[in-house]
Amino acid sequence: MIRVRFAPSPTGSPHIGNIRTAIFDWLYARHTGGKFVLRIEDTDQARYVEGALEEMMNDLRWMGMQWDEGPEVGGDFGPYFQSERLDIYHKYAGELIAAGKAYKCYCTSERLTEMREAQQAAGKTTGYDRRCRSLSEAELESSGKPYVVRFAMPESGTSSYQDVVRGSELSFDNSLQDDFVMLKSDGFPTYNFASVVDDHLMEISHVFRGEEYISSMPKYIYLYEALGWEQPVWVHVPLILGPDKSKLSKRHGAVNFSSYIGEGYLPEAMINFLALLGWSDSGDKDLYTIDELVERFDISGIINHPAIFDSSKLLWMNGVYIRQKSIDELLALCLPYLQEVGLVPENPDEPTLTYTKKVLALIHDRLKLLSEAPEMSEFFFKDDLTFEQKGVDKWLAKPETPAVLEHVAERIESLGDWSVEAIEATVREAGVEAGAEGGKVIHPVRVSVTGRTTGPGLFETMEALGREKVVQRLRNAAGRA
Ligand code: GLU
Repeated sequence: MIRVRFAPSPTGSPHIGNIRTAIFDWLYARHTGGKFVLRIEDTDQARYVEGALEEMMNDLRWMGMQWDEGPEVGGDFGPYFQSERLDIYHKYAGELIAAGKAYKCYCTSERLTEMREAQQAAGKTTGYDRRCRSLSEAELESSGKPYVVRFAMPESGTSSYQDVVRGSELSFDNSLQDDFVMLKSDGFPTYNFASVVDDHLMEISHVFRGEEYISSMPKYIYLYEALGWEQPVWVHVPLILGPDKSKLSKRHGAVNFSSYIGEGYLPEAMINFLALLGWSDSGDKDLYTIDELVERFDISGIINHPAIFDSSKLLWMNGVYIRQKSIDELLALCLPYLQEVGLVPENPDEPTLTYTKKVLALIHDRLKLLSEAPEMSEFFFKDDLTFEQKGVDKWLAKPETPAVLEHVAERIESLGDWSVEAIEATVREAGVEAGAEGGKVIHPVRVSVTGRTTGPGLFETMEALGREKVVQRLRNAAGRA
């Protein structure tokens, strides 16, 4: 049975890297018919952030990535919060201590600081000097003093494991390893210990996590060995870097995951884009539906070099997915954005909804983000237009323009058939009659009616706005000039 886990720490807003790992977990579970477990690694009390877990669960649900076991849904391997599993970690730590594979360390933080400073001064690599490893309880005079539990690592030899992403065995020099802390003095486990215990007890078959954990592999190898457990398959996913190959940050347009939701990215675009950050299906296809990803996702496609985050590609992809939406879907998606700025009322009536759909159909092709909808469509909803200075200077301010606009207004006013074709023919004819052919009439009419020099098809825009508004705007602009 394939069982994967996503194991976030509730220490802040989830970022792109966290969610990318969750997507890999989820895709792999769905691809194999396995289970996707959500485990909360909340053992770092000092870094706990209120609301971070809810945000994470919200992000996962927004993408349609429901976990099979974990918070809110339960499961047979709980509890799924590490803070509720302390007795389990203590039990295994106790067994390791009894077997001489771990030990209590009473060194104070002052002693550890002194030790580190002395090591640095002597030009040595820093690490615990294993003082408490060889002393007996009596020698330590320990009664009642705070302690941590350290794992007794081998001091020589090499350790190795098979990395499925790199397709090779990776080896480490044990003499460079530290006797790492398994349990802290507050009784909470460290990540390294708790994740091993939980991955085993939760029967996790594949551990997907960032490749920054590769350097800690010796710890896991010996912990598994000491506990007599079989290791899971380790799937270390590549780092995500910015286009300049530096660590991904806000500078590269990478923000908290929830901000992408707010800006109006679609789940299908985020999943598609993030799945390709570290996985490839061979070939240069870019667009994958979620079903296709589930069908094709496999460990063999995980790349073994850093993935580059390109925010312009994400934006492009989002536009592609927006264009695939029906107008009714687009309405549902954009309405909150239009309502937020008051372009559409909170409880719109049917005619308003019909009009809004017509407007959205006109901007559909150019939308790359749902949050662009208000700016792109404002002039359809508001009569006090903001005029683009460029359009005013180039067209409205021309001495001949008012007469042209007035003539177009007159012809439009008496137009019988209010269709896109009839409007176009009339505007063009009126232009010729007023001595302004083609662009010379179309541009000033566009600026008059929309306030802008670019936008959706002019005649479609006029048709949607309706005769009355168009005539009024043409006259306003004529008077303005
Ligand atoms: N809690 C760890 C983190 O958020 C999880 C790493 C792992 O997947 O094992 O980085």
